[in-house]
Amino acid sequence: MKLLSVIVPCYNEEETVADFYAEFIKNKDIFEEKGLDYEIIYVDDGSRDRTVEEIKKIHEKDQRVHMVSFSRNFGKEAAMYAGFEHANGDYVVTMDVDLQDPPSLLPEMFSYIEKGYDSVATRRVSRKGEPPVRSFFARLFYRLMKKISKTEIVDGARDYRLMTRQMVNAILSVKEYNRFTKGIYGWVGFRTKWLEFENVERKKGETKWSFWKLFAYSLEGIMAFSTAPLAFASVLGILFCALAFLMIVVIIAKTLVFGDPTSGWPSMICILCLISGVQLFCMGIIGQYLSKAYMEVKGRPIYICREEI
Ligand code: UDP
Ligand code: MG
Repeated sequence: MKLLSVIVPCYNEEETVADFYAEFIKNKDIFEEKGLDYEIIYVDDGSRDRTVEEIKKIHEKDQRVHMVSFSRNFGKEAAMYAGFEHANGDYVVTMDVDLQDPPSLLPEMFSYIEKGYDSVATRRVSRKGEPPVRSFFARLFYRLMKKISKTEIVDGARDYRLMTRQMVNAILSVKEYNRFTKGIYGWVGFRTKWLEFENVERKKGETKWSFWKLFAYSLEGIMAFSTAPLAFASVLGILFCALAFLMIVVIIAKTLVFGDPTSGWPSMICILCLISGVQLFCMGIIGQYLSKAYMEVKGRPIYICREEI
């Protein structure tokens, strides 16, 4: 028998962990037909509610349910990494606990693995039930990413993905601290089949992602998979140099023709402000990359475990 590991990151999800298990177990017979055994790895991302207790209850009923519990909230990326590290399966799937990634899709996903794909990924074709501002910025982010990064990051891609052991090992070999898993999937490559599904709204509990948390996450993605902003800073610098050179020529010509009345004080201040603004902006971009490099160099662990069952 082959083993399927299901990785489920949870953060303050006391209401949903049991529902997820119940929903997942419905496909048990189909798995058995395909010669698949399963293990569920709940990764508790430092929840402050009763998530851990709920998971332990499920573990008592079913020994195939495991838990990795963090010492604090390390973020979903860290939770997925911990899941990959603890998974023993020949196949590994990552899913949200809120049932936004329907477990009923699993048999179809697995059939593509049987056909020889290394990974089966999902993307939602609609963003129904999401605030319009959020959808707008999400689209903008993916369009921008497409332009400035060589790594493919698909619009609407979920973290719901089934992979072979080989691909999981490849992902585990990417040990960076600032993780953007959607990009890492693309970066490691392999043959991926994309399945599409309609957005499902969260059943219980609420989303853990505020607009600003998502915004910061998107910047993380850009910096992890593109150095275009750095190039942008240099291009901006060159443009301003060219402009300044042109202005010098004009001013010299003007002085030679019309003499030198002391004027242009206000415009001088405007230019000064503009240029120092641009300089600070570009330094900020460099600073962002520097801070990422700083965090990488420290070599801190991606997560810290408090309890394992
Ligand atoms: N999650 C996590 N750590 C966090 C935030 C979220 O492990 O810091 C988990 C959460 O429990 C859920 C999944 O990541 O299983 C997706 O989160 P959520 O449903 O809040 O995001 P959305 O679907 O709204 O994008
Ligand atoms: Mg969700």
